[in-house]
Amino acid sequence: MTLGNLRDLYQQVILEHYKKPKHKGQTNPVHRYQKGHNPSCGDTIELTLQLNDAGDTIVDAKFQGEGCAISMASADLMAEALQGKTIKEALEMVERFQGMMKGETEFPKEQRKLNVMQGVSQFPVRIKCANLTWHALKAALESSNGSQLDGFISNEKEER
Ligand code: ZN
Repeated sequence: MTLGNLRDLYQQVILEHYKKPKHKGQTNPVHRYQKGHNPSCGDTIELTLQLNDAGDTIVDAKFQGEGCAISMASADLMAEALQGKTIKEALEMVERFQGMMKGETEFPKEQRKLNVMQGVSQFPVRIKCANLTWHALKAALESSNGSQLDGFISNEKEER
């Protein structure tokens, strides 16, 4: 497979997740909620997480929002990859994804689906779009280390 074909394939995967997201909606119940906004493109994401009883593992992750194909596909891919992950693992994934956007790293075999976003690192304007959902995840996980949902918070400052 040539590099060009590989890029096309990645593009197809991104478009597929954009058009037919598998994890759109809201978890029930909502244990963590985080809204994220990327002003430079206009992407908005509302991320919800359902945790296990101990509050240390993500049982389900879903997102709602509007934005470009990159931001939406990134959210759907992330939600898929988060199923059953511990909070610690999820935070490591945030680090890794951000590293990947800097062209420094990629995901190991078990999570290689996330590597379809790797090409985005070549387009600086798009990096914020891809990172938005991961910023929201990090904020959601760090928002309260207790097990209670203590109100909805908004995270609309520009990030990167
Ligand atoms: Zn965007």
